[in-house]
Amino acid sequence: QPPVITIDGPGGSGKGTITQMLAQRLGWHLLDSGAIYRLTALAAVRQGVALDDESGLVRVASGLDVAFEPTPPGQPARVLLAGEDVTSEIRTEVCGNNASRVAVLQPVRDALLQRQRDFRKAPGLVADGRDMGTVVFPDAPFKIFLTASPEERARRRFNQLKEAGVDVKIDALLEEIRARDERDMNRSAAPLKPADDAQVIDSTGLSIEEVLDRCMAVVGQ
Ligand code: C5P
Repeated sequence: QPPVITIDGPGGSGKGTITQMLAQRLGWHLLDSGAIYRLTALAAVRQGVALDDESGLVRVASGLDVAFEPTPPGQPARVLLAGEDVTSEIRTEVCGNNASRVAVLQPVRDALLQRQRDFRKAPGLVADGRDMGTVVFPDAPFKIFLTASPEERARRRFNQLKEAGVDVKIDALLEEIRARDERDMNRSAAPLKPADDAQVIDSTGLSIEEVLDRCMAVVGQ
């Protein structure tokens, strides 16, 4: 089996950026599992399937026609749903929230399991998500759990949004982050928590390069 590095953690911990940089540096493939949940939610909305219709959602998840392009190692992918580019559409707050609603349903998670495992290909895979080390790749040789304080994550998000010209209050962001943490950690289906054998890295106060160095150290490079 090709090696896997799992990178789990809450939103805003820097997982996405670190996963891309690691995949690029190692020349390994990348799995953005959050995108798969976002795509499931988007496809459901488009097909008129309600976000609490469990059997309808399982059907959508099983039949999901997705492609990540390009697939060469380390590249941020364009995301295609039934051939249509939905790269920016799946990044909206609405789609993220819808994704977290379908993600609480265990049968939906089961329907997406093999699809995620299929990303494991030579020379290796960097897998970004919430349950990569606990459920999807429990035998991964390298597991990282990336966190940061809620305040730091709110600050990062605030700066991102400011750069994009969006005007928000940092207190409101902090509130949202705490609510999302609560939901992700307390759900019964694959709750967010570090795998027993994961290395926990707290990125609060660290630069991206410092976090990347610590991750490379975990991989032994
Ligand atoms: O990471 P991202 O924000 O794209 O994930 C969207 C939502 O999908 C998360 O809030 C989480 O509820 C869900 N998710 C999950 N398991 C994963 C990845 C994402 O439950 N492995």
